[in-house]
Formats: sequence, C-alpha cells, structure tokens
Amino acid sequence: MSIPSLTQRSRTLLALFSIAAALIAGCGSGGFFDNPYTDRLESQKRRPAHVTPASAASTAASRAPHPKGETPAPRPIGPRCSIERGPLPEAADVLEIVLIDVGQGDAILVVAPNGRTLLVDGGMAFHASSGAGKKSGGYQMPDDMGKKAVLPFLRKRGIDRLNIAVGSHPHADHIGGLVTVAGALGIDLYVDPGVPYSSDTYAALLERLAERKIAYRIAKSGDTLDLDPRVEIRILGPEPPQDENVNNSSVVLEISYGGFVALLTGDAEAEEEAELVQSGQLKSACLLKVGHHGSRSSSTAAFVETLRPSIAAISCGRRNKFGHPHRSTIDRFDAAGVEVLRTDLDGTIRFLTDGKRLEVKTLGKRR
Ligand SMILES: [Zn+2]
Repeated sequence: MSIPSLTQRSRTLLALFSIAAALIAGCGSGGFFDNPYTDRLESQKRRPAHVTPASAASTAASRAPHPKGETPAPRPIGPRCSIERGPLPEAADVLEIVLIDVGQGDAILVVAPNGRTLLVDGGMAFHASSGAGKKSGGYQMPDDMGKKAVLPFLRKRGIDRLNIAVGSHPHADHIGGLVTVAGALGIDLYVDPGVPYSSDTYAALLERLAERKIAYRIAKSGDTLDLDPRVEIRILGPEPPQDENVNNSSVVLEISYGGFVALLTGDAEAEEEAELVQSGQLKSACLLKVGHHGSRSSSTAAFVETLRPSIAAISCGRRNKFGHPHRSTIDRFDAAGVEVLRTDLDGTIRFLTDGKRLEVKTLGKRR
C-alpha cells in the first residue's frame, strides 16, 4: 500500500493546525464554537438557497475531468448485481455489513469472513472544552452515540479490537463517536481524507489517536485496505482537488466479496458522485450506503442510474430536523427500482453474504 503514514509529530502539528485554523476561521463562520454541529450550520448557512441537485450536478460537471458544461451522464458499467436474496447456508463464510442505528449520523461495522473488523464512522458526538453531553451557550449537546450505541453494539458482539477505523470525513455526526471508541478499544489503523478541518471534535479525535498511538493514514483514491484476502476493499474517493464542502471529501469504499459489491459513500454529494461516475471505476452495487443521509443534494439520477444498486440503505435519525431522507431522493430510488432501507424506520440493519446470496436482517420495526 502506498498511502503515506503520519508520524506522531506531524499528527500533533495537524492537531495544532486544526485548533489554530479554528481560531482563525471559526469566528468568521458564524460561531463555530457556539454550535459546531456542522450539518446544522450547513443547513442554515452554508448551503445557498439556489443550490439544487441540478445546479450542484452542473457544478460537479465543471469539476469533473470532462468538457465544461456537459452534464455527467450515466455510464454503462456492466451487469446489475444479480445476487440472490435469502438465508445463507449454515457453514457459509460470511461477510457482514451492519448499519448501526445511531440516530442522525453514520456508523457502519464490517466483519470479514476471517473475523477481522472495519468500522466506518462512529456516530454523532460533540467534544468541546465544556465536555460532551452538557449544555453550552443554550445549545443542548447531543448524546455521545459512540458511548450510547456503537460501543455497546461492538461489545455485545464480542469485538474488543478494530483492525481498521475510517472517519469518512471530519463532521461530528461521523467522527464524534470515534473519539470514545478509540479510547475504549484497540485500533490498528485509522484512515480519513486528511483534509484540514477546524473543530474541537476533530482536534479531540486527532489527540486521542496520538495518545493511543494509533497508526494514521490518509485515504488515497486507488489504494486498497487489507482486511481479508477474499474481500477486496478499494478506496474510490476522494479525488483531489477537494471541495470546500468536506462532504465531498468523503472517503468512498467499495467492498467486494464474490458476486457481492457494496459502496459506502460517507456524506458524498452530487459533486463527488459525479467524479465517481466520471472515474469509470464504479461497479454496479448490490448495496449502496446512501450519501449524506438521503439528502436531496446526493444520489443524483446520473449516479443512481450508473450504479443501479439493488438496495439503498440510509442512515438517519427518526424525525430528524434536516428532513433526511428527502422525498425527491426516495423518488429517484423508487424510479430506478431500488429497494430502500432506513435506520430511522428499520433500526439497525445487517447485511450478510457469502458472495453468492444476500440475507438482510433488520432489528427494528417499520412504523
Ligand atoms: Zn453526516
């Protein structure tokens, strides 16, 4: 693997840079330290009212490596996933992918057939000098979902060590819970996009990684992660140059096992999706972990029609204030004949496959 690793000194420098950048940029971003729950900031301030999926796709077109002004079109990428649905044989060597119900956020556990583990994101938590779970300036801190949901789930499964942890991008609803997880469990390797980002939560995570002497690598498109020789994990994104919107710097992982393919896209929106389409690297996915909790700025028609997933799985909170998933996103999946599963309705969702068949188990009930 050719991904560069960071020394402890450079990690410390990166943490200091994050804190310094927060002091400079945070004040200008409308009270970063008052309420660094960045999705809320994005929904209220960062996303201009004129940005629609169509205009976002147009912006994406200008960034992607193809002629300006040309809207990315679906590209044929081989046959649609045709894996059978149903119970697995008892002696099967199983790859399991679990969307842990963490409310509004992401936490995805991958257990390879050889038992090795990968955790992508750890749910929401906000780490500030005043401490997670306390009130700050009238803003009620959200619960630490690493402590409340992810760690209990991992412990119940007998997992006390993660071989790889990935922070898809440095927003608190993805990496917040990883601070607690990294403090409680052994982690062999931490991977993230390596984008400078000014928040107390990201600084806390970098400090925790340094304290625990956890190896840190920056995700680089084209690299692979080694978990199990039978399972291929390709890093498909982010492709530089990165957007100022860190959602579009999300680490995108493609996990293949036999005839099964899953694509995990973090909070990738239209711009990063367009880059994925243009890259020519996509395979039709049996499972798509939908980008950005099913927001309308993700899962463009071109992306959905290119990928032609069998199942779209959305991680979002019940009655969340962002309106995720957006009706238009659900409509795009419906139009493409894609089954939609949602943690807000289905609870924790488990996908089990032996590479020939796929079994889906939901631990909650639709209401
Ligand atoms: Zn998110």
